[in-house]
Amino acid sequence: MKPPKFKYLRPGTIDDALAVLKQHGNDAYVLAGGQSLMPTLNLRLAEPMVLIDISRLESLRGLKEEGDQIKIGAAVSHAEVAASPLVNKHLPLVTGAMPYVAHRAVRNRGTIGGSLSHADPAAELPACAVAMGATLTLCSASGHRDVPASEFFQGVMSTARQEDELLTHIHFPASAANEVWGFNELSRRHGDFAIVGVAARGLRQNDILSDLRLVVFGCEERPVVSAAAADLAKNREITQDQIKQIAGAVSEEINPMSDLNGTPETKRRQAQALVQRTLSAMMEPSTS
Ligand code: FAD
Repeated sequence: MKPPKFKYLRPGTIDDALAVLKQHGNDAYVLAGGQSLMPTLNLRLAEPMVLIDISRLESLRGLKEEGDQIKIGAAVSHAEVAASPLVNKHLPLVTGAMPYVAHRAVRNRGTIGGSLSHADPAAELPACAVAMGATLTLCSASGHRDVPASEFFQGVMSTARQEDELLTHIHFPASAANEVWGFNELSRRHGDFAIVGVAARGLRQNDILSDLRLVVFGCEERPVVSAAAADLAKNREITQDQIKQIAGAVSEEINPMSDLNGTPETKRRQAQALVQRTLSAMMEPSTS
């Protein structure tokens, strides 16, 4: 199918883009890599009057170190993130998750800002952003605000972004020297969205794990941090029995939606297996 008619605008600066967003509100959609938006338009699931192409805005591009944070522009492509030595060194969870995001062709065009703004509950990067405690910066014509990733995702493709706001960049805390991470997902084919996924990071001292943030995604309307996992792993020595206990607690804590991929009970079991696999890898002797 072809998309409905729209007016295409390519502002030269962020201020111009924000002015257009302010003028058109909900009638205008931001166009980044188009990998999610264009199929949405082709299927007539949305019919915006105006598309605001931000893909060539220089100030939304680039990755850099800022103190103990890594700042990534919203229009940086998945492929650029995946290839970045800075991300590889300081955000290994993101590097580890990136091969699971679609296929190379999609990663060449799709952007990190687009993925976070689209807020698909089965997408990998929102889960990583929540697990890592990232902060998203939203700008409008009247100012800007910083929103923690844990508050940004509100439901299925629903976020804290207001209609006149543009996601401009994301700050990820750089990983600590004793940080360990894990990522796993179950999908029908490699590159598909996750049926169920787990993204986790924590601090490890020998066999003691602390500050565990374990996120389950693809189950509920948004990525959720497991309070049970954080509690059970708090400054404890993590044995295989402990890992099984945590995985069981997470599977009881989550509240999976029923969808074409399976019943809530199936997803609980899948999440349980993935948590066990992820934590076992994080606590392997070689990673300490
Ligand atoms: P666009 O499609 O341009 O925009 C998506 C939405 O975000 C739109 O509503 C748009 O208005 C809004 N938006 C974009 N940028 C901003 C911004 N800076 N500020 C405010 N709003 C903004 N994704 C996965 O995570 N995992 C997968 O396994 C996966 N598989 C895929 C397979 C296929 C075949 C395809 C086509 C896509 C797949 N995707 C997957 C989606 C892909 O990762 C998209 O790149 C991503 O979801 C959106 O990024 P984009 O830059 O293309 O955004």
